Amino acid sequence: MEIIRRAVYPGSFNPVHYGHLDIARRALHVFDELVIAVYVHPGKPDLFSGEERLDLVRRAVQDEPRIQVASYNKLTVDYARELGAMAIVRGLRVFSDFELEFRMALANRRLAPEIEIVNFIAAEEHLHISSSTIREIASLGGDVSSMVPPYIAEALQQRFAELRARGSNSSYMISLGE
Ligand code: ADP
Repeated sequence: MEIIRRAVYPGSFNPVHYGHLDIARRALHVFDELVIAVYVHPGKPDLFSGEERLDLVRRAVQDEPRIQVASYNKLTVDYARELGAMAIVRGLRVFSDFELEFRMALANRRLAPEIEIVNFIAAEEHLHISSSTIREIASLGGDVSSMVPPYIAEALQQRFAELRARGSNSSYMISLGE
């Protein structure tokens, strides 16, 4: 019987960017299938809703049949078990990521020792990219076209224009991920 090596790549993806997409594509060198799992925090106001984030990720990977996209709202290890995933994929950009990822990996291993945590080192050209930086730059009208696909740059522009039209100062809070 052929064993399918499936992994799950969890995150907020608010919004997804080239750094995330690079990790997802590289994970396919190691795994047969990858599920990009968009964590949706109930009741937390986000710049993009769970549905919107899911849709933005789907469009980015639609040419890759080995990548599926789904949302979830439970412990990542429980979701990974449900999917029959053998590993949880995460990216590592900077030293400051390491402590959080290390703690999370240890906690997840305690909860689910059968699931491996696999960290991919970010590509040099994407080291500086984070969703929160992108939100902040876009909220101030800056150019994020080197960090996200064109339709996401447009979605950001549109969302901040809507927030400004509403006179909402929540754009500032949301842009900083509060
Ligand atoms: P979370 O909300 O769980 O921190 P994110 O959606 O910000 O997650 O990111 C999901 C995963 O992608 C994390 O493992 C994060 O370290 C990784 N990641 C984020 N930005 C980059 C990048 N520029 N290059 C590589 N990996 C990244």
